[in-house]
Amino acid sequence: MNGQLFDSLEFEPTVAAARARIAAIRPAAYARSRNHLEGAVTRLSPYLTHGFVTLRDVLAGVLLHGPLPIQHKLVYELGWREYFQHVWQHEGDAIFESLHEGVLPDAAYSRELPDDIRQGQTGVPVIDQAVRTLVGTGYLHNHARMWLASYVVHLRKVHWRSGADWLYGHLLDGDLASNHLSWQWVAGTGSHKPYLFNADNVARYAPSAWHSPGTAIDTDYGALDHLARSPRAVPGGRLGAREPAPPLLPAPPGAGFTAPDAAAVQGRPVRLIHAWNLGEPLARAPGECRIGVALREFHSRWPWSERRWQFVSERLRAVCDGMWLGTAAEVQAALGGATVVHRQADRHMEAWTPQADPVQAPTLLDWPPGRCASFSQFWNRAAKGLSEAGELLR
Ligand SMILES: Cc1cc2nc3c(=O)[nH]c(=O)nc-3n(C[C@H](O)[C@H](O)[C@H](O)COP(=O)(O)OP(=O)(O)OC[C@H]3O[C@@H](n4cnc5c(N)ncnc54)[C@H](O)[C@@H]3O)c2cc1C
Repeated sequence: MNGQLFDSLEFEPTVAAARARIAAIRPAAYARSRNHLEGAVTRLSPYLTHGFVTLRDVLAGVLLHGPLPIQHKLVYELGWREYFQHVWQHEGDAIFESLHEGVLPDAAYSRELPDDIRQGQTGVPVIDQAVRTLVGTGYLHNHARMWLASYVVHLRKVHWRSGADWLYGHLLDGDLASNHLSWQWVAGTGSHKPYLFNADNVARYAPSAWHSPGTAIDTDYGALDHLARSPRAVPGGRLGAREPAPPLLPAPPGAGFTAPDAAAVQGRPVRLIHAWNLGEPLARAPGECRIGVALREFHSRWPWSERRWQFVSERLRAVCDGMWLGTAAEVQAALGGATVVHRQADRHMEAWTPQADPVQAPTLLDWPPGRCASFSQFWNRAAKGLSEAGELLR
């Protein structure tokens, strides 16, 4: 990707920046060009993952320009995000294991992600460009994510879970449900066939610097299917003198966060703000203290890049009176003297968040009660509510 595109991948951690992206959406151009790396995608994902805006805000913003068919590509893609959340709600931690066997047994794949992949030195331009874009910006186009995941799993024989954990930490929009379930879809452990791609596909959808003639992917789909079903990995690249890839961090780098501080909230109402509800906070109640929280339990399991920590910390600094980093027990103890504690419910915090008054975030669709086996089943049941609700869709 060239410098110009890198510049357009800057994500300012403000609600105004998220709203500007919503206002810039052009649904017809989106539907026409979504699969192209230079297509008119929204780049809203970091703002959606971190709760600056909701899927409802996106749809409402788009509908200001006129009605959309309910089956419009953009509405459908927003639906995918909710489908993955729906699966996570029903499956819980089971989404972090293969949902069923893929093309090969789990044991056929390595659990180590090789350094040439981490550093973007595989020698396959599409993969190296993808890794450099990821590390340099914290964002990757959907098609590039699919190519990267497919190469990692089916050609290099790395277990999808190792790739998913690594990608999750580097993405500003890293979302456990969308990310890990998409990897399973590519791997074939959450779908019925492996996702494969070749050099012709890259040449059609990516700028020329990404084209990869003469590499392992420059072959037909029959040969790729054969490679995917064989336990032998294709060779990796030779490591040159590049900087080692930046590590993922279990705690925010630099200043800003303190240990939980009971004195700061003693006798006051508290609103907890976390990394998944960074939108406009509700109006302040009298005397309310807003505390940003990061829990050690979560982040030691799911470390983030420095870039992602900065994105989240800058927003927390702008809306909170204090920022705490601690274990759930430490946060809970410090909140003991607060008169009341409010927080937005969120699956990321569920296992660890201290007792508080959880407010449910609004969903875009009416989720059916049972687990839907497929996206189309979910869509057919859930999107009915959307049109019945008269959301200006036709
Ligand atoms: C291997 C892999 C890993 C992924 N990891 C994540 C992740 O960690 N977080 C994440 O939000 N998305 C993830 N996705 C889904 C998708 O790639 C991104 O949501 C999308 O590329 C974000 O860019 P955008 O906002 O410009 O998307 P747009 O195409 O403009 O779509 C608008 C919004 O719709 C939702 N959306 C679009 N496509 C998808 C999709 N296929 N699945 C789920 N939601 C979708 C997103 O919220 C997105 O912001 C992953 C996909 C793959 C193949």
